[in-house]
Amino acid sequence: MLNADTTHPLAPKVVEALVDAATQLGHQSTYTGYGELEGNVKLREAICKNYYKPRGIDLQPEEIFVSDGAHSATFDIQALFGLDNIIALQDPIYPPYLEANLLAGRSDIIYLECNEQNNFVPEIPKSKVDVIYLCFPNNPTGAVATKEQLKAFVDYAINYDSIIIFDAVYSAFITDPKIPKSIYEIEGATECAIEIGSFSKMAGFTGLRLGWSVVPAALTLESTVAGELTQLCRISQSIRFWGASSLVQQGGIAALSCQQECQEIVNYYLENARILKEGLSALGLTCFGGTNNPYIWVKGPEGMNSWEVFNQLLCKADIVGIPGSLFGSNGEGFLRLSTLCRQEDIKKAMNLSD
Ligand code: PLP
Repeated sequence: MLNADTTHPLAPKVVEALVDAATQLGHQSTYTGYGELEGNVKLREAICKNYYKPRGIDLQPEEIFVSDGAHSATFDIQALFGLDNIIALQDPIYPPYLEANLLAGRSDIIYLECNEQNNFVPEIPKSKVDVIYLCFPNNPTGAVATKEQLKAFVDYAINYDSIIIFDAVYSAFITDPKIPKSIYEIEGATECAIEIGSFSKMAGFTGLRLGWSVVPAALTLESTVAGELTQLCRISQSIRFWGASSLVQQGGIAALSCQQECQEIVNYYLENARILKEGLSALGLTCFGGTNNPYIWVKGPEGMNSWEVFNQLLCKADIVGIPGSLFGSNGEGFLRLSTLCRQEDIKKAMNLSD
């Protein structure tokens, strides 16, 4: 698996909400069955009010589609687009974007180079593409994008009638107030971008499975009018997916009401990243990411390929990473390390004591 699992337990308020929700299912008077296919309206309201509103973003619950995680959402969203669409992907890439499009039968795929020279944030496409996948904070490179960099993509998408699919799964790791957490912080983005969010890394829901997609009413494509894509998404969801677990959605509502508690878990991982990056840098390795992002993108010594870097770190420091070449050709020579793990393990690997 090229994703990274979390290790820290849930916030106590989330656990309480899950227990309460399970208890209610055991009583005749409070039992509930199928819910709204787009997701519990209270959860969609909380996503608008507690997640987006504080960032100055106005969205309506009707524009939110609750999913059982960003992974499934990635596969579901692409089904809205034609098979002859030209798709632009970052290289290196979180593989499911590519796999979802290949499985659907698309072959017109171009890659946007992410390398040391551009700080792993690609240039806008040089020609017309239909769908652009962007992921910031990025898995695997640990990069984040500035407002100006995202604005260039939004302007491109508006000019070329393209759609951006913006994966914001790691938004909670952004602590720098100048870095946007959502594509909708960029003017014009509601006209050209779908955002994918998740409770997995923000609140430790990797096993519970809960996420959302935003398909704004203002979003249009060449052949559609405002609201049509949101409606299409509603129809698609009712055919493909009958809603996330009602119990887990109660956990999501609780997570959005105790964001500070959840953020403490994120801060714990960010401290892991700081310790690991500092330790590896002291060993003479060049490391990218690890701030505003739980991933560290380690550059191997000159001439070493990703698998050689993998072997070296495994044999010399007992650290297991993912060879960067598995994420695309621009990943060659790099290794991705996840810091979503226990701090004692990071300290052990760096030979530090508590
Ligand atoms: N997007 C990215 C970039 C990821 O790294 C991951 C998981 O690691 C996902 C999506 C999937 O998240 P979820 O657990 O919500 O399915």
